[in-house]
Amino acid sequence: MYSESTPLSKVLGKREATKFRTARNISTVGDLLGYWPRRYESPESNLAAAKVGSYIVAVAEVKTATTRSMKARRGKMLQAVITDGSRDLEVTFFSSHGHEGKLVPGARALFAGKVSSFNNRLQLAHPGYSLLSDFDGGERRDLIPIYKAVGNLHTWTVTECVRMVLDLLDETPEAIPETILDRRDLMDRMAALRGIHTPNTHEEVAAAQRRMSFEEAFVLQVALAQRRLRQAEESTLARTPRPGGLLDAFDGRLPFTLTAGQQEVGVTLAAEMARDVPMHRLLQGEVGSGKTVVALRAMLAAVDSGGQAALLAPTEVLAAQHHRSITAMLGDLAEGGMLGGSEFGTRVTLLTGSMSTAARRKALLDIASGDAGIVVGTHALIQEHVSFQDLALVVVDEQHRFGVEQRDALRGKAAHPPHVLVMTATPIPRTVAMTVFGDMETSTLSELPSGRAPITTHVVPEAKPGWLQRTWVRIAEECAQGRQAYVVCPRIGDDDDPDEETEIFAPESAADADGDDGGDGDGGEADAPPPRPLASVRAVHADLVANPALEGLRIEILHGRLPAEEKDAFMREFADGDIDVLVSTTVIEVGVDVPNASVMVVMDADRFGVSQLHQLRGRVGRGGLPGLCLLVHAGAPDAPHERLDAVAGTTDGFELARIDLRQRREGDILGSSQHGVRSQLQFLHVLEDEDLIEAAREDAHDVVTQDPDLTTHSQLAALVEARVDAEQAAYLERG
Ligand code: ADP
Ligand code: MG
Repeated sequence: MYSESTPLSKVLGKREATKFRTARNISTVGDLLGYWPRRYESPESNLAAAKVGSYIVAVAEVKTATTRSMKARRGKMLQAVITDGSRDLEVTFFSSHGHEGKLVPGARALFAGKVSSFNNRLQLAHPGYSLLSDFDGGERRDLIPIYKAVGNLHTWTVTECVRMVLDLLDETPEAIPETILDRRDLMDRMAALRGIHTPNTHEEVAAAQRRMSFEEAFVLQVALAQRRLRQAEESTLARTPRPGGLLDAFDGRLPFTLTAGQQEVGVTLAAEMARDVPMHRLLQGEVGSGKTVVALRAMLAAVDSGGQAALLAPTEVLAAQHHRSITAMLGDLAEGGMLGGSEFGTRVTLLTGSMSTAARRKALLDIASGDAGIVVGTHALIQEHVSFQDLALVVVDEQHRFGVEQRDALRGKAAHPPHVLVMTATPIPRTVAMTVFGDMETSTLSELPSGRAPITTHVVPEAKPGWLQRTWVRIAEECAQGRQAYVVCPRIGDDDDPDEETEIFAPESAADADGDDGGDGDGGEADAPPPRPLASVRAVHADLVANPALEGLRIEILHGRLPAEEKDAFMREFADGDIDVLVSTTVIEVGVDVPNASVMVVMDADRFGVSQLHQLRGRVGRGGLPGLCLLVHAGAPDAPHERLDAVAGTTDGFELARIDLRQRREGDILGSSQHGVRSQLQFLHVLEDEDLIEAAREDAHDVVTQDPDLTTHSQLAALVEARVDAEQAAYLERG
């Protein structure tokens, strides 16, 4: 009896089982069945794609085959011509041994190999192949699944293993209740697994994938529905601001009027915090839409009600900046308990991992005693020895870097579950919000405060003579008018390690290169050698300092590995206008707010993600000055750069978020583990599968309402638990 949890080592040969485990972390029958084909070939597929250097996997028929003795060596070589009816290709084996009897005229096989050229003709030299007659047990199929190679196991070996496993597995537990399968017209799991691994038609594949997508969406939505239910049952303290208190005093001295959106969200937050069920709200709004003020007002309401508020930021730079700007906005309201402070003032305390022991001890005391009404910090806030006097509200800035568990860890620090507000500047398409933040309500700030100037973005191909120098001259011109500039690089340059905070993308031209259908890594096309090393903060800084065009300007560096005080000092000096040009990594990506900065240059911009570039450029154009963003790349000057052109072409964050999503593996966006095949969403496409996600959400709600603990849905319960475990594991790994 085999089930999906049976170890592969019990089913397959030792060699194969070991290969699957070491190369792809596939160790059970279920893991293997979750390793789905990357595409399907039809037996009529053609060889048209063959070109020198490309790796092809194609079905073809042997047209002629001859063996002949070689002059220089002993043994015979075999030369064959294979065809798909539209095109011929030569196939050569330097030893005919073992092939003669198989590659005979008329034989049809699946061939895989790298195309080379010999005597000006394309050829496949000793390709891997599998005769269709062997490989399908003689059964004629209309579609042939092509799997990505597993170590040196070719696609047909994977196929054999998958079939073996499928044959031995006569039943597999169903996680989706039958009524739902009927209602949504979905096939059962067993049929879907067969449809994915041994289909006859593309329609069959599509129906099978639809069912698997639904399952993924459904499991996720059940987990979220359970979370929502638990949240709704929680009770906490209602937090209402004291009339004539801190919030009123702050409102009274705001130097601007809140936008209609800010007011509306403010009302919503106040109403939710005034209930005795904890708030769980996501606030999204473009960079610069004024989320921080909205959050600060909620924090002041929490302090007014006698509690504390914590603001969690993803980086030290951002935490320090929030601390600085909140303190500045509050003025004497932030001097509670001090001489000259306002009578209802509070204190704003910073807590980060790299603070000195003394400063840290003081901060911890203020937090524990409640003297600090507002606490701003990084991950350090989540650590065990931080205890709050009465944590009423948790604000998480830039959520995409925090997991659900991190939110929970901070929630766990409160006597009563705190209200939670999550802010994100990455616009989140609706279905993604339903998937990733499915346990939260969403508010959106859609208008920018007035006085925002437009940002112009240009793509700068470094290879065009003079363009890069022109870029530096632009910076000099802006600085001559009293403005400031950012230059962002993907690396620090101390050694070869990229900055931890930067996610570096492969160059676009090499994006297809991971198509290794073949054996042992020789699959994809070789990456073109990069024209130069990736730009580093240190190297670019040195160049700029030596550049006569920038003479007399103060140019400094900023990156994640600088000591905290230095980072903080440079950021403050930049904010004060004492530094003209800041050469940095993406530490300045989120939230940094220096209105006087008007230009941003991004080096090797093609190596950044679309949303990240959009975030980055949101740092300029904030102070009523028109912003300029120059995206420098070292690639071919006239080659299209889809990502860069997209960013240059629009400032619509939603549109860019969609493009960004389409370009990545969706599992990665959802923040699930890179490891563990099953923790990723394999089938579900969060952008295209909107109907499916909606349906799954409805069904999940029904199931959870009737059976909150899933006692009558054991398989579903197991999958939900596995999913939650995988998320927790991912969180622990990220630390
Ligand atoms: P976000 O966090 O959404 O990127 P911020 O809250 O940092 O945006 O706001 C960006 C800038 O706009 C800040 O300098 C802030 O003081 C200012 N600001 C916020 N709300 C308004 C408003 N209603 N009118 C004018 N300026 C505003
Ligand atoms: Mg912000």
